[in-house]
Amino acid sequence: MKYIDEKCAVCGGQLIEKKVEKLLRGGRNMASLNVTAEVCLHCGERFYTPEIIERFEKIESELEREETRKFQMVGHAFRVAF
Ligand SMILES: [Zn+2]
Repeated sequence: MKYIDEKCAVCGGQLIEKKVEKLLRGGRNMASLNVTAEVCLHCGERFYTPEIIERFEKIESELEREETRKFQMVGHAFRVAF
């Protein structure tokens, strides 16, 4: 992990750069990816670069349109009555 020379926009806490798991949803599909984010040590808020957010949006619209052939299937998602 790496300390960032910038403060959290939410609480002013210290930011670090680290790999996080991000879940994306589109339609009835979901994808998980490992991505570098700036994470606040104080409140836990995650920040992503505009390029990464743009890629998230592209993946979400592919999920929504069922264009999932290039994604690796890793399991099934279930809805559980709770
Ligand atoms: Zn914060």
